[in-house]
Amino acid sequence: MQRSLSDEIKIYPSTVNIGKALWPLITKRVENFFERLSKGNLDDGKHLQIINTLETNNYALYVHMPFCHTPLCKFCCFVRYAYNHEQYKAYMKALRKEAEWLATTAESARIRVIYIGGGTPSIDIHSLSEFIDSARSYFGKNIEVSTEASPIDINDEAVSILRSSKVSRLSIGVQALEDKRLWELGRLHHRVGDSIRAVEAARGKFNTLNIDMLWGAKGDNVDKIKVESSKALDLNADQVTFYPLMPAPGLRELERKRKEGPWHPKEAQLYKMILQEVFSKKYFPATAWCMDRGSKLIDEYIVDFDKFLAIGISGIARIGNYAYVNTFSVEKYVKLVEKRGFSAIRSLQVDTSEDILYYISTKLFGLKVCPSDIENRFTMKNAGLISFIIAMLRSLDEEQAQDGCFHITDPNMLYLLHIMQRSIYMGVNTFREWGLRSQS
Ligand code: SF4
Repeated sequence: MQRSLSDEIKIYPSTVNIGKALWPLITKRVENFFERLSKGNLDDGKHLQIINTLETNNYALYVHMPFCHTPLCKFCCFVRYAYNHEQYKAYMKALRKEAEWLATTAESARIRVIYIGGGTPSIDIHSLSEFIDSARSYFGKNIEVSTEASPIDINDEAVSILRSSKVSRLSIGVQALEDKRLWELGRLHHRVGDSIRAVEAARGKFNTLNIDMLWGAKGDNVDKIKVESSKALDLNADQVTFYPLMPAPGLRELERKRKEGPWHPKEAQLYKMILQEVFSKKYFPATAWCMDRGSKLIDEYIVDFDKFLAIGISGIARIGNYAYVNTFSVEKYVKLVEKRGFSAIRSLQVDTSEDILYYISTKLFGLKVCPSDIENRFTMKNAGLISFIIAMLRSLDEEQAQDGCFHITDPNMLYLLHIMQRSIYMGVNTFREWGLRSQS
């Protein structure tokens, strides 16, 4: 069911209250999962066997490139380090080696899409391109590649290099379209002019051009967000992804001291304003955050890929009921890959109810839940939990379309899914912060 552009967008106070009640429950549950993962010993032999005997299936591969321009962004909750030439070279060499190891070990895995994130993968565009070319030689020439980039790295030459490596999706971290807001966010290494030039150089040159925007900063209000969203959509990219600020626990503590809590006091009004601008400019939600003008690759590969592998520091993988995470330290990474080919350091067996909740949350985030897919994916033993979740969707007035799936378009549901995904990512951020601090 598609929304009509003239439909008025309403987010009810009761929805906001449900969101407030939901987030601590979800964040705690996710933190609990990652706390167990942080303590889960990895048995090298068993890990090798699992990767070696993966079921024949389609997989996404996440590749982490952790180096960034300085100063590092104040709001950042990713695993990233200031660029250092020697470290960078050693890291990229190890990354190619780990990719080769994975391609030769996971023989039955069909890698369909590679998502390169960071950090700032574009920090050395030639090395990025060389990595993509070698990944194609390991995993097959037809893999789709999505990469993130900083506006200051993207110009005509960079676009031509990325096109020669057949990048299909380029995502530029624009974040804000007012220099004062960039400064307020603590994004100090680029200016609005850099973003405009980068988008102009890349527009129409890739299957999908995405720009990332941030909202929910201290000084944000409805009027500011209206102007910012409108400007972002007017840049005419294929997608605009509106990420809420998601502070890691250390930053959350800072916020608490300012008596603000992890949320913006006008969270729902800001989100509603974004949706209003999105619909008025004929973009539609592909997720609660990603606004799209067609059916394209989106940032959250977990929506489309139930199973995904990861290389590079801090990469988290889910393969069936098994999860693993790679080391967070660049020095350890280079040594581990040199010694045994892979960088995983912790693993966890995921229980089935956790697996169902995870699976359904990813489908909800992608705004499409198909009961038949859930029933096919899980056994009858879990029928009770599955029926409960489907009944909940019905009670929320989401109608099943002709394909038998629930397609989520209601702004209240979108807002709740925004809260759900934000809460999940905040739990992940707690884990990332643990990894950065402990240098595990
Ligand atoms: S927000 Fe992006 S560019 Fe800024 S420090 Fe974090 S990873 Fe680097």
